[in-house]
Amino acid sequence: MRVTSESLQEQLRSLRFTEVARVLPDIIQTSEKKQDSYQEFLHSLLSFEMERREENKITKRLKIASFPYIKTLDDFRLEEQQSLSMKQLKQLRELNWLEQAYNLILLGPPGVGKTHLAVGLGIEAIHRGFKVIFLSMGDLVKILNTEDISRKSQTMVKRITGADLVIIDDIMYMAMDQREANLFFHLINQLYDRTSLIFTSNKGPEEWGELIGDSGITTAILDRIIHRVEVVHLTGESYRMKHRTTIFGEDTVQS
Ligand code: ADP
Ligand code: MG
Repeated sequence: MRVTSESLQEQLRSLRFTEVARVLPDIIQTSEKKQDSYQEFLHSLLSFEMERREENKITKRLKIASFPYIKTLDDFRLEEQQSLSMKQLKQLRELNWLEQAYNLILLGPPGVGKTHLAVGLGIEAIHRGFKVIFLSMGDLVKILNTEDISRKSQTMVKRITGADLVIIDDIMYMAMDQREANLFFHLINQLYDRTSLIFTSNKGPEEWGELIGDSGITTAILDRIIHRVEVVHLTGESYRMKHRTTIFGEDTVQS
């Protein structure tokens, strides 16, 4: 059989080396120019495939995570958030808490960077090979409420229980009825001890009971969340308010 670029590409594709199949002529040309050895050529071919697969995996995981916006920890300005030290941020970023299935509670008033930090940590985790999913409390309750009847909700529950990190944004923003509280407890119980959770909230855990209603369920939920938890209090003025743009002249209002 005559070996052509096309026949090689076909072979690569049938072995599912799809990335390298696409650019094979370029790789061959570059290696010829550099007068690579067979080993060097094979190495660059395999490296290309592996790098692209890793990139594709990250892109796919970022999509599944469904962050409300993409902002990284590098975009987070520490000088604007006095209550978080450089050392604390570094520790959070190292993700030991995630490896040990600790939970994080990010507390503070609106606009202080809770969601940004949660998203930033989620992105970091994806780059480190973890599976992440981001949900608002509203989304989560809707998913749990419709799990019996909606295929989409079933897929979401599978993603949640299969994730390494589940971010629940604005927890206890809304009151839950008895059935919802039970479903929420059931989920927390399933995740307990093997999945890390990040909760953002403008209310401390001591106030969560008011919205769950049933004190028995509240205690059971809190028990599991608090067992291994790090609480981060963010304070200060709303970043949005401080850096808001106005239509009346000045670009940014500094207080
Ligand atoms: P919340 O605490 O209400 O969840 P967000 O995290 O969504 O607030 O922050 C509101 C906006 O302000 C976002 O666009 C976020 O990126 C920005 N922001 C807040 N804190 C900081 C910060 N320390 N550095 C950079 N951007 C920030
Ligand atoms: Mg928020």
